[in-house]
Amino acid sequence: MADASSPADSGRRDATPVKAIDWAQRRIVIDERGLAEALSRFAEVVGTEHVVTELSALRAMGQATVPDSRRPSAIVYPGSADEVAQIIKLAESRSVPLWPCSKGRNWGYGSAAPFLEGTVLLHLERLNRIIEVNEELAYAVIEPGVTYRQLKAFLVQHHPNLWCDCTDGPPDGSVVGNALERGLGVTSYGDHFATLCGLEVVLADGSLIRTGGGEPGHCHTWNTHKWGVGPYLEGLFSQSSLGVVTKAGVWLLRRPQAFVSFTLDLADEANLPRLVDVVRELSLQGVLPQGTHIVNDVVALAVVSQYPRELVGNCTRLPDAVMRELRKHLTIPQWSLGGGLYGTRAQVNAVRAELRRALRGLGRLNVLTDRKVRALLRLETVLESLRSRPLLRQAIAAGFRRLSGKSVELLPVAKRVHSVMQGIPSDYFVRHAYFKSPLEKPEDAHPDRDNCGLIWFAPIAPCTGNHVQVVLNLCKQLFIHHNFDFYAALLMQNSRSMIILLSIFYDKDIPAEANRAQVLYSALTEATQKAGYQQYRTGTMGMAALFSTAPEYGRFVRRLKTALDPMGILAPGKLPH
Ligand code: ADP
Repeated sequence: MADASSPADSGRRDATPVKAIDWAQRRIVIDERGLAEALSRFAEVVGTEHVVTELSALRAMGQATVPDSRRPSAIVYPGSADEVAQIIKLAESRSVPLWPCSKGRNWGYGSAAPFLEGTVLLHLERLNRIIEVNEELAYAVIEPGVTYRQLKAFLVQHHPNLWCDCTDGPPDGSVVGNALERGLGVTSYGDHFATLCGLEVVLADGSLIRTGGGEPGHCHTWNTHKWGVGPYLEGLFSQSSLGVVTKAGVWLLRRPQAFVSFTLDLADEANLPRLVDVVRELSLQGVLPQGTHIVNDVVALAVVSQYPRELVGNCTRLPDAVMRELRKHLTIPQWSLGGGLYGTRAQVNAVRAELRRALRGLGRLNVLTDRKVRALLRLETVLESLRSRPLLRQAIAAGFRRLSGKSVELLPVAKRVHSVMQGIPSDYFVRHAYFKSPLEKPEDAHPDRDNCGLIWFAPIAPCTGNHVQVVLNLCKQLFIHHNFDFYAALLMQNSRSMIILLSIFYDKDIPAEANRAQVLYSALTEATQKAGYQQYRTGTMGMAALFSTAPEYGRFVRRLKTALDPMGILAPGKLPH
C-alpha cells in the first residue's frame, strides 16, 4: 500500500481510514471513525453478523505459531464471489487494506494473521461449496473455503473412484489456499499449484476474471487445459497479492487399482546424498512418484513424542547423547524415506521389486499393504486393552520389537502415513507442532490457539545429493549455533528439485527463546540466499526479503502490483513494498 502520509493524493485519503503505514513496525495507523464507516458499508453487503470486531476474535486471528504476529482490525466474512467483489470494490474506493485468507490454517508461515497490524481480514471460509465433480475427467471445481477433510468426505461418499491429494498438515486447511501458496502434498498429485486448472479471480478494482478460456459454455476446457491460450496468467495469483481467488478447478487422482506405502530406514547417515540421488533417478525413470519424502530423527520424534524436558532441564536443544538414547528407545533412524506406490497391481508389484533392487545396501525397506496395516491396528487395540496389565503388555511389545525391529510407539505412525498417502487427511501429524509446547498434545490440535511455537523455513535445492547436503550442512550448523533442534524433511517437489523443509520449534511462552527463533530465521534466510538457494514459499516473516537476490524480478512484480492494485489494498506486505 502506498504511504498514506504522502501529500500527493491527500484529497482522496481524507476519506480513508488509513492515516499512515509504519512499515518498520508493521502497522497501519487507522482512523477509527473512517474504519467504522467502511465496516458499516461492508455490513450492508455481507450482513452485520459477518463483520466481526470483538477483541477476542481479532486476538484469535492475530495469534500465529510464528513470533511477533499482527492482529487485524476487523474480520469480514463474505458468502459469495459477488459479495467478495462488492467488498473489494468498496475497500478500493475507501482505500481499506484487506488481507485475504481461505481458512487461515497457514501454520508455521503466519496462519491467518496479516503482515501489517490493522489490515482487515477478508476471510473466505463461508465460500465452501463443492460446485462440481467431473468423474470422467477427474477434477472438481471448488470454492476457497473447501477443506481437505470436506473434499475427501464428499469424494468417499459420492465419487469413490476419485482421490484428492492432501498434506500431512491441517485437515481443515483450504485446498485452494494451500495450492495458491504452492503447498506440497504426499501423492503423485503433490505439487498442488500444478493441479489447479481454471481460476475465478476478483481483482483489486472489484472486477472478476476467469483465467484460460473461462467457464464451460464459453470454453469446454477451462478445467482440463491448464495453459489456456495467450499468456499464461494463473501464476500471477499464486504467492501473490494481485487478486482474490473465488473458485478453482482442482485435478483429482483416479483411485488406483493397487496401492502400498513404504518406508526405508537409512542405515548410515553418510549415505544420505546417495539416497537422494537414487530417489531422483527412480523418479526421473517414472518409478517413484513425487511426494516421496525423507525425514530426519527430530521429525519422527516430534510426531510420536514431545520435547523431553524431564531429561534435559533448561537445554533448548536435545544434547546428542539424549537424542541417541531416544532414537534407540523409540527405534527411530537418523533418516528415513517414505512414500506411496500407485497403479495397477502389475505396476505396483514391478515398482516394489525395482525399489528393493535400487535401495539395496541402504537400509531396511518396509512395505505396508492394507492387510498389514489392519494387523498393526489389531495389535494396537490389543496393547491398548492391556493398559492395566503392564507386564503382559511389555512382553508383547518386546516380541513385536524382536520380530519387526520397531518399537510399539511407532504403531500409530505407520497407519497414518499409510492413509495420508491415500489423500486421507489426519489431525495426527498436526500435533507435532506441540513438540516444544508445555501443553500435552490435545485431540483437537490447534497450534495457534494453544500458543505453540513453530516456524517453517523452506529452501529448495536441485535434487542432487550434493546440493541437498550443502543446504543441510549450512542450516544445521546455524540451528546448533542458536541452540535449536534440527528438524529437516526433504520433500521431492519434482524429479529435479528437493524442498528442504526446516522447522524451528520454540517455546512461545519464553520471550527470549522466541527472539532467538527469529534471529535463527534471519540467519537461515541470509545464509541460504547468499549460497544461491531460494525459499520455495515463505510466510509473513520472510516476505520483506523475498526479492533481495533478484531485484529486477522484484521491480517487475511491483510494476504489475501498481498496475493491478494502484491503491495497494490487497494483502499489503505480501509482496515487498
Ligand atoms: P490454508 O488455510 O489453506 O492453510 P490460508 O487460508 O491461511 O491457507 O491461506 C494462506 C495464504 O494464501 C493467505 O495468507 C493468502 O496470502 C493466500 N490465499 C489464501 N486464499 C486465497 C485466495 N482465495 N485468494 C488469494 N490469496 C489467497
